[in-house]
Amino acid sequence: MSRTPQEIWQAVLGELQLQINKTNFITWLKPTKGLSLDNNVFTVGVPNSFVGEWLEKRWINLIKKTLASTLGCDTGVKIQVGFGLLNTTVNGNAASHRQIQEPEHRKDQHGVVCPFFPKYTFDSFVVSDSNRIAYSAALGVAQNPAKTYNPLFIYSGSGLGKTHLLQAIGHTAWNSGYNVLYSNGEQFTNEFINSLRYHTTEDFRLKYRTPDILLMDDVQFFSGKEQTQETFFYTFNDLHNSSHQIVISCDQPPKSLPHLVERLRSRFEWGIIVDITPPDYEARLAILKAKSECCPVPFPQEALETIAKMPIDNIRELEGCINKVMACASIFNEPLTSEVVLKAIEDIYKHRQESRLTPQQILEQVASHYDSTTQAILNKKRDRSTTFLRYIVIYLIREQCSLSLSNIGDFLGYKDHTSILYGYDKVVKALKKDENLKQSVEKIIQELKNL
Ligand code: ADP
Ligand code: MG
Repeated sequence: MSRTPQEIWQAVLGELQLQINKTNFITWLKPTKGLSLDNNVFTVGVPNSFVGEWLEKRWINLIKKTLASTLGCDTGVKIQVGFGLLNTTVNGNAASHRQIQEPEHRKDQHGVVCPFFPKYTFDSFVVSDSNRIAYSAALGVAQNPAKTYNPLFIYSGSGLGKTHLLQAIGHTAWNSGYNVLYSNGEQFTNEFINSLRYHTTEDFRLKYRTPDILLMDDVQFFSGKEQTQETFFYTFNDLHNSSHQIVISCDQPPKSLPHLVERLRSRFEWGIIVDITPPDYEARLAILKAKSECCPVPFPQEALETIAKMPIDNIRELEGCINKVMACASIFNEPLTSEVVLKAIEDIYKHRQESRLTPQQILEQVASHYDSTTQAILNKKRDRSTTFLRYIVIYLIREQCSLSLSNIGDFLGYKDHTSILYGYDKVVKALKKDENLKQSVEKIIQELKNL
């Protein structure tokens, strides 16, 4: 199975996006295309020579490195102005447009290239108290599919390592010769709908019911989609009955997933359910240390500690900080001191840093705005409308205060951080639809500012 140059380039862009700050990525890399892989030279098309020269100057080494890790071998890179077949490169050379040749050494015995992200392995996963159980369960499943836990259900908030673990299972099992399929809730849903539209239900069935291991990421996407849920239910049964392993990830535990048919919920609860909690200070420091080791400039411990002290729950954001600091340090050619770190990430976290509001003030303001009381809002046995006021409090604390999920949980008396995320998401969704709510929340924010 060979990927087209554009598919390879998409994978490379996906990786680069994690390493380059958003503005740079949108300006310089987003408008590019993968055109060909010829004689071990990959040709990238750019819209104009300005972008081309900039890529050559600033990002060529990073592009080469990322391309090499995607393809599994070192490859030359040619930048070509325009997206046509034969065109002028930035250096004035000609590049042709052809189907790619896959490098030999990353194929299995059937000639199939490893379909998993090279970066997401068990080796590169930093284990801490917040993810130890999920890590062990994932490793167990990868080494002994369908012998230990089936299904394995992993849940956590965003950016805490679910996809990383699923991909790591994929790598390990694939290397041991298992037929592994990685998909996610959205892809499964789209493929299911297309199979109905184009009368290819048999292909769809075969694709999802034959793998030894099915890794299904982000099943929260199934919420409210009954037909897709039903199809996944039968897929699940088929695989489980034939002792094939199923691994599922989700942003919340099965019991709190809204709009899920009961029988699918009960299937999700058949095996083992594990969660990943937000990393504490030590875990954040360990992750930052591991990530910084890939940087060309050494990060002093003090700089890492400065980032680890920030109230950041999301590991993707931690990675973003490292990249931002690297970019700033190289632009201004400065050593990585705590001051440089703070300067580099200040705009990302400025509003959280500057916030002088306390959770108690937010709680009181919401209570007074809605003619309720702080005790009623904190009481978990109340009616739905009071519960929703608590969700508004969660939302406002997350948006306005520099507190981690576990700090918010402590304040509101929740043991489980997923309840915080659940309440937060409820308000985010409601705000998109409910104009009155939007106005009320804006008004409360204004009232808080006037305190
Ligand atoms: P999720 O799927 O839960 O939203 P991801 O698996 O996409 O999160 O993780 C977000 C980023 O953080 C990825 O780049 C991933 O490699 C990294 N990451 C998450 N957890 C860890 C960990 N324990 N060790 C190293 N990197 C991690
Ligand atoms: Mg994910």
